[in-house]
Amino acid sequence: MEYLSVAAAQQCVLESVAAFGAEPVKLEQSLGRVLAEEVRANRDQPPYDISAMDGYALRSTDLAGIPATLEIVEDIKAGDMPTKTLASGQCARIMTGAPMPQGADAVIRVEDTEAKPNNVVQINQAVKPGNDIRRLGENMRNGEVVLTPGTAITPGVIGVLATVKRAQVQVYRRPRVAILSTGNELEGLDEPVDPNKIPNSNSYALMGQVQALGIEPVLLGIARDDPDELARYLKRGLEYDVLLVSGGTSVGVHDYVRPTIEALGAQMLFWRVAMKPGHPVAFGKVGEKIIFGLPGNPVSSMVCFEEFVVPALRRMMGHARTHRRTIEARMTHNVKHQPGRTEFIRVLLAKEPGGYTATSTGAQGSGMLLSMARADGLAVVPGDCNGLTAGSTVAVQLLDGTVFQDDAGFKE
Ligand code: AMP
Ligand code: MG
Repeated sequence: MEYLSVAAAQQCVLESVAAFGAEPVKLEQSLGRVLAEEVRANRDQPPYDISAMDGYALRSTDLAGIPATLEIVEDIKAGDMPTKTLASGQCARIMTGAPMPQGADAVIRVEDTEAKPNNVVQINQAVKPGNDIRRLGENMRNGEVVLTPGTAITPGVIGVLATVKRAQVQVYRRPRVAILSTGNELEGLDEPVDPNKIPNSNSYALMGQVQALGIEPVLLGIARDDPDELARYLKRGLEYDVLLVSGGTSVGVHDYVRPTIEALGAQMLFWRVAMKPGHPVAFGKVGEKIIFGLPGNPVSSMVCFEEFVVPALRRMMGHARTHRRTIEARMTHNVKHQPGRTEFIRVLLAKEPGGYTATSTGAQGSGMLLSMARADGLAVVPGDCNGLTAGSTVAVQLLDGTVFQDDAGFKE
């Protein structure tokens, strides 16, 4: 049976999916969505030269001798328009954000001055031309592209959208995602504890992973290892845009996912990937719907989600950046590795003077969910590697956070 590399499998997934269509959303509801349009500035910002400080607008050439005394001819508050042109020896009291008067070429902050009687101020510090002035259009120019499609809407982006007066914007529609677990041994969260059963954790861990991307998934429950029951559940799942099936994708005689999916007309693009944990991972399409067969082992299921489902969902959501952020770290210990599969090791990160270090979270069995729960990231051991010695540099894919990047950020 053919094993794809992680990179080839990721590429296959990304080539098989595209961004969904656009829909309008109010600015108040836009956080976490993805812009589906180009946004341009609707005016120069600031609209004129303004003061960056509370202080005095003045002519810098008047400060040849320090201290200097200047006559205050006007008081300009934010929202006012100046009415006077400054002559030599004159200044205007000015507030942050207020327009600069004609004749002035600098601002001095109030802390560097002393008020004197009769509208006179003593300036205790010389300033260069342009000091503490925010220039017309330095923030954005009228007509300039300020945001491009594929941009994740963060609080900063919302601020820019409000600046250009966009009360409503076009964002990409989000895919609808369903999650199905399979296995006779599984016990539902709402069922009484049976010591002979295995709690269904995958549905919920996957739910959390989907929610972390900003999508509310639908949980379809547990299908028993029975071809008819599985077919019924899979059909329901294929009413959604993306179906995640956990378990039953391996080669055991009761692993019915493969024949049942194929009987439903799925065009499967891969069934195996050369990775550890997680090699029995499948991906295919049924018309426009996409289906992932994730391994039953809890850690494998989560790692396969990170490597394949995250890029797929983010591409469908319209994100320009599809992959989790990776950083470089030094391993604090040796890592054994047989060449062959790309290995993902759950690690804790620590910041040290020379950069980050990575330390295994403990036993790395594919059922050891606690090792995943504790992890900051996944250290990637390339497939051709013969093992790592303490101090070697590895790429670590961060498991948390909202910052993503264009590519996987690791080599195999
Ligand atoms: P499978 O891929 O179906 O062969 O399952 C591999 C292992 O993962 C078995 O030990 C299963 O009991 C376990 N497993 C399968 N599905 C789940 C699930 N939804 N939650 C927790 N463990 C599971
Ligand atoms: Mg099973």
